[in-house]
Amino acid sequence: MIYKTYGRTDHKFSAIGFGGMRFDMSRSDEENAELLLYAHDKGVNYFDTAPDYCQDRSEPIFGIALRQMARQREQIYVSTKRMPDPHDNFAAVRADVQQSLDRLGLDYIDVYHVWCIRSLEQYALAMRPGGLYESLLRLKEDGAIRHLAISTHLPGTEIRRIIDDGAFEGVLLGVNVLNFQFRWPGVQAAHEAGWGVVAMNPLAGGLIPQNHQALSFLAREGDDPTTAALRFCVGCPEITVTLVGFTKREHIDTACRVAESARPFTPDDLEAVRRHLSQNMDVLCTGCGYCDGLCPRNVPVPSYMQFYNDRLLMHKTDAQMVEHARFHHGWGLLHARPARAADCTACGRCEQACTQHLPIIRRLEEIAAWEARALGEPNHT
Ligand code: SF4
Ligand code: SF4
Repeated sequence: MIYKTYGRTDHKFSAIGFGGMRFDMSRSDEENAELLLYAHDKGVNYFDTAPDYCQDRSEPIFGIALRQMARQREQIYVSTKRMPDPHDNFAAVRADVQQSLDRLGLDYIDVYHVWCIRSLEQYALAMRPGGLYESLLRLKEDGAIRHLAISTHLPGTEIRRIIDDGAFEGVLLGVNVLNFQFRWPGVQAAHEAGWGVVAMNPLAGGLIPQNHQALSFLAREGDDPTTAALRFCVGCPEITVTLVGFTKREHIDTACRVAESARPFTPDDLEAVRRHLSQNMDVLCTGCGYCDGLCPRNVPVPSYMQFYNDRLLMHKTDAQMVEHARFHHGWGLLHARPARAADCTACGRCEQACTQHLPIIRRLEEIAAWEARALGEPNHT
């Protein structure tokens, strides 16, 4: 395992972190906790959870394992999170942080995230006087939290604006070898600002392991596409920790093996990936961001086109895309943006800018129908 310094702290985090959002819920909490202990034995020292993950069982599962690791507390780093709410005040935030501490069996949380920021309006909500951020700062002064970070699903250009405010010590964002162009300005800005960077979703939500044939161009020198995708994140000097949502010991073994020999992607490797995505996979959105911010109706075109990539790569049916839309809306990954797919007026500006010449308007029509079904809205088939 390699270890990297988290931002300006003196903490060395394992390059692979345990993401607690994908436990197998058919197993007992004790069985799932065994996986955390196994990962720890393999050198993983960064453990990321949240209330609500895995039917709200993730923090208690972590608690079972962390109590068994209590003697090594100083060498273990635990992260959890909370979303901003318009009714936030110190008492409410303190109660939620205390609940996490109690479930985890800890006296302090190493990295506490302002969670799931999907729009700059939500960011402003978190930062309002007396709100989430200020309450967390007080808890940090009290010793319940060591470091404050932000978790976001915004495009890289908007993440850069948050980083410019300099209010946090680290950022958690979804970046992988397929979408890196979309998020890279955020990763770079965080790194340049001296923030720790934690990457989530390194395997594109399972899309990479499930499409080895289509993505074989990612693999080189003994890699398969999955290990190449892990290597992409782990090898990036800008990324401190790559979170993987483990469900099996074998997956932990594989990720740790990658982290022992993580050769970074060279600029030539990256250029080859970019070229392949745009030339040979020209039906896919590459996340280049050229269409971002152009829409007069504020439709978040890159987010929607990345969402549509799943339809193409995983051959999802309409019913599966409705389910996929429901999941995204459940987590606010689409609806927190200023406009929905159905708001598109077909002006064509995004299509003119699209480096892939994608039929964005037609795809948005399909997505609008899936979204309406996912949200139970009338008049859509
Ligand atoms: S075609 Fe639709 S999504 Fe594209 S810029 Fe125009 S209104 Fe926005
Ligand atoms: S310009 Fe095209 S490929 Fe690039 S982010 Fe927008 S939709 Fe995706």
